Amino acid sequence: MEKRDYYEVLGVAKNASADEIKKAYRKKAIQYHPDRNPGDKEAEEKFKEAAEAYDVLSNPDKRARYDQFGHAGMSGAAGNGGPFGGFSGGMSMDDIFSMFGDIFGGHGGFGGFGGFGGGGGTQQRRFRGSDLRVKVKLTLKEISTGVEKKFKLKKYVPCPHCHGSGAEGNSGVETCPTCKGSGSVIRNQQTILGTMQTRTTCPTCGGEGHIIKNKCKECGGEGIVYGEEVVTVKIPQGVSEGMQLSMSGKGNAGKHNGVPGDLLILIEEEADKELIRDENDLIYNLLLSFPTAALGGTVEIPTIDGRVKVKIEPGTQPGKVLRLRNKGLPSVNGYGTGDLLVNVSIYVPETLNKDEKKALEEMDKSDNFKPNTSIKEKIFRKFKTLFE
Ligand SMILES: [Zn+2]
Ligand SMILES: [Zn+2]
Repeated sequence: MEKRDYYEVLGVAKNASADEIKKAYRKKAIQYHPDRNPGDKEAEEKFKEAAEAYDVLSNPDKRARYDQFGHAGMSGAAGNGGPFGGFSGGMSMDDIFSMFGDIFGGHGGFGGFGGFGGGGGTQQRRFRGSDLRVKVKLTLKEISTGVEKKFKLKKYVPCPHCHGSGAEGNSGVETCPTCKGSGSVIRNQQTILGTMQTRTTCPTCGGEGHIIKNKCKECGGEGIVYGEEVVTVKIPQGVSEGMQLSMSGKGNAGKHNGVPGDLLILIEEEADKELIRDENDLIYNLLLSFPTAALGGTVEIPTIDGRVKVKIEPGTQPGKVLRLRNKGLPSVNGYGTGDLLVNVSIYVPETLNKDEKKALEEMDKSDNFKPNTSIKEKIFRKFKTLFE
């Protein structure tokens, strides 16, 4: 099925504010909510379509990418997009309720409920595990190629003894006697307008629809224990300091086989000894000896892929910038590669021996060694642009 434009799905303008987008989504979500449209497949599709549109348009990064590249920019399957917040395929109802539960008045967040699970008339709530955060420090080389990193995470995992249920043995779980498993109760209230019926979360089971009769002796009935998991994260090329990748479902396990949280990976850059990063370009400050600048020659320049030889023209001035094309970093969206800019300065010896001093004094007598007006002007301009 051809995907519809996300703005069209929510019925908002391209320049809609975050608030307008949220309001538009809430309206659609209520209209197509499975509880209001039991068994209606078309409504379910519309409900999912709206959630997908909201997932993208409510996230400034994803929205910017969508505005620039359309649906193509959202595909998680393309190349290295895997963990990079990509949006691969449809969302399950559980995803929608756990991600946007707050929109329907749920709680979400740390150790909270992930909203309603399932749909189709049932309203049991499921716990959502909290997100986990890790930092990863990358060298320029790793950023240029992309890299796989393994993390040994200390985190909550489903209790192996009760398989996450929180109950001891098969008879440990019982359908909640108060709500008969629905997770909610109808309450009659007398008002001046007559009897009002309101549906609220079941106070006995907290909305889960079942109660644990015999608690698991390993986890005390929580269904989760503190454990360890090794997670491999594929970091795409071109990432930069401060970026955050997310792997859904790799965070802490949720209580009672609930929805796991996400693993968030914060990118840090290790400073390089020789190269300075400027977005996708790299800068190298080359200190040239005066004779090489005057006579010309060959120098070695460090790049990410090792050192390369670069020709220096006779009469090279300080402030000259040599551009080595495509020797920078690849862009994170896969479009193009930056350059390596070699910024030339001239080295002046700090001490001189007698012969050197004499030779330089001879040179200084020649008008050819005095900077002429056009060179002065040129270097002045160059110097100025470096700071713009
Ligand atoms: Zn257990
Ligand atoms: Zn109950």
